[in-house]
Amino acid sequence: MQIFYPGDAGYDEERSGFQTGLRHEPQVVFAVENVQDVEDAVGHAESHGLEYAIQTTGHGLTTATTGVLISTRRLNAVEVDPATGTARAEAGAVWQQVVEKAAPHGLAPLSGDASDVGVVGYTLGGGFSVLAREFGFASDRVTRTEKVGDVVTALEFELLPVERVHAGELFFEARYEREVVEAFHTWDLPDHVTPALTTLGDVVRITFASTKPFDVGHLRVAPVLKEDLGLKPFAEVAGRPLPPHTYQGDNVLLRDLPLEALQRAREIAARSTAEIFLGVLPLGAALGSEATHLLKLISPRLGVQEQHEEVFEAVRPFVVGRSRNFRYAVG
Ligand SMILES: Cc1cc2nc3c(=O)[nH]c(=O)nc-3n(C[C@H](O)[C@H](O)[C@H](O)COP(=O)(O)OP(=O)(O)OC[C@H]3O[C@@H](n4cnc5c(N)ncnc54)[C@H](O)[C@@H]3O)c2cc1C
Repeated sequence: MQIFYPGDAGYDEERSGFQTGLRHEPQVVFAVENVQDVEDAVGHAESHGLEYAIQTTGHGLTTATTGVLISTRRLNAVEVDPATGTARAEAGAVWQQVVEKAAPHGLAPLSGDASDVGVVGYTLGGGFSVLAREFGFASDRVTRTEKVGDVVTALEFELLPVERVHAGELFFEARYEREVVEAFHTWDLPDHVTPALTTLGDVVRITFASTKPFDVGHLRVAPVLKEDLGLKPFAEVAGRPLPPHTYQGDNVLLRDLPLEALQRAREIAARSTAEIFLGVLPLGAALGSEATHLLKLISPRLGVQEQHEEVFEAVRPFVVGRSRNFRYAVG
């Protein structure tokens, strides 16, 4: 195992991740390769009275540690067992590895829209998959957890017999945002469809996926700028890696989301002093009835928590919690 201290060659690279606006400032980095290394790293933190943080990809970095950083990238084996329809992923594995190993057996994991996100971090936050409303949370499928202290060294979980999905996206110009949001919100959504709407500055994007066919005619309330719908291999909807960048974001889980509250949140986000991308995920169906929607905000810079709170204020009466996923650089 390699161990890095500030000033060492490799220290900066090891503590850097997908989030470029914030980095861990550890006294020491343990670049673990096996379970014994994790035991050593945790033992070091405990015997020195230091906190320890875990980093796989840095996608979900919330606060930077000044104690011990356990970097799991190299502890990343993935095995798929087609006989039991399960996979075992070590701490540092990313979804792409699971998707690639599962696909030849006609299987797929409940991964999300970015294939370079870590399996463990994603699953510990519940895991909202591109097929979430059809099959539930990724965490519902965990069959075994291997741990050392707070570090999950491996997860075993069920895969699904999914080869291809009906999936795609529709883009509209931002000037039709109000109409598109209303159509999205009033969509009589079949339980098997998992959609998401995101405002992206100049455009509004709606994505959807399901193992069964469905109709999106109801959403065509404005000229469609670009569309891409079809029956695709699961790997194609499991997302492509994005380049590392700076971003801050948060989310709320809602027990209801009246259209007026959503439109208000959207308007506040659109005229905010910060650039804010607003995302709406309808929940329910296999995700249970505790929350009906997840509203997430993301901005391409730090220091925008106040502006995000102004948007969340529009839905405050309906907030029942926060997802641990979709929290970025927020402490
Ligand atoms: C572009 C992008 C797309 C995303 N898409 C989705 C999506 O579709 N659905 C969804 O649900 N989420 C999504 N997320 C959120 C993502 O699941 C969380 O940010 C998750 O925490 C990332 O895990 P990571 O290991 O990649 O990141 P890291 O920043 O490396 O880890 C995040 C946190 O997870 C914990 N963690 C990681 N590994 C371990 C371990 N081995 N043991 C114990 N704790 C650990 C730690 O608390 C760590 O601070 C997305 C995030 C981004 C940036």
